[in-house]
Amino acid sequence: MQSDPEHIAISKSKGIHIDWKDGHHSDYGLVYLRDHCPCATCTGSHGTPPRAHESGNPFQMFKAALKINSIEPIGNYAIKIDWSDGHSTGLYSWDHLRKVCPCGECVRA
Ligand SMILES: [Zn+2]
Ligand SMILES: [Zn+2]
Repeated sequence: MQSDPEHIAISKSKGIHIDWKDGHHSDYGLVYLRDHCPCATCTGSHGTPPRAHESGNPFQMFKAALKINSIEPIGNYAIKIDWSDGHSTGLYSWDHLRKVCPCGECVRA
């Protein structure tokens, strides 16, 4: 099913909320969005790498403080998110965002 956003509310420290034209609502937390980055680097060719749980990983504290630096609209079909961890190549199309909608209804479907 395809749909466009009717309204997008962006919080650089919390995440994104999208009201879709078909009446659906999606709430994406920052970490969830970052984990679902659709770029080639993050999706990789080896499948989804397991989350790093090693103690003493210096990147963990940065992960905890993950923020959005800026969001750039790409045409009228996607947004590009510039993350505080330096990653900025992810292009989140409406299609992708709708597909990864974390609400109970979509997760069940
Ligand atoms: Zn990425
Ligand atoms: Zn949903």
